[in-house]
Amino acid sequence: MKFILTPELGRLSKWLRILGFDVAYISRDDITALIIQALRDNRIILTRNTRLLNKLRVGRAIGIKSDSVSLQLKQVLGDLNIRVDQQNMFSRCTICNTELSRVDKEKIQGKVPEYVFNTQEEFFSCLACRRIYWAGTHWGNVRRCLEEIRSGVSS
Ligand SMILES: [Zn+2]
Repeated sequence: MKFILTPELGRLSKWLRILGFDVAYISRDDITALIIQALRDNRIILTRNTRLLNKLRVGRAIGIKSDSVSLQLKQVLGDLNIRVDQQNMFSRCTICNTELSRVDKEKIQGKVPEYVFNTQEEFFSCLACRRIYWAGTHWGNVRRCLEEIRSGVSS
């Protein structure tokens, strides 16, 4: 399932990418570009922009209700009846949406903090923007957040 998000949903786009979804993010208010890309790539539009929702005549779109990113995520997963596939989690760059590649530990020496290098074994790299990922970073609280969403706790 592929998505395209409007400017006010930057945090949600990052979260959907962490979960492994293919997410395009339009950082400027350009409705025409949004619709063209949604139709071309068969992407579901997610937006909080009701003016845009009312104007849309083509494509699939969901109006996101909440301001809170965990409730936004809960709504998307619920409305579309999506189960998060653990296999796909942490497989995409949260900045540019490119799929990550595993890199050998020796190759990233000096490119991550020494503490990280000494304590982590698995590293992944984005070949597009060169960002390096490892399991102990901001990924850390993702599982906890997902559990909260599943058990119905909102924050
Ligand atoms: Zn990247």
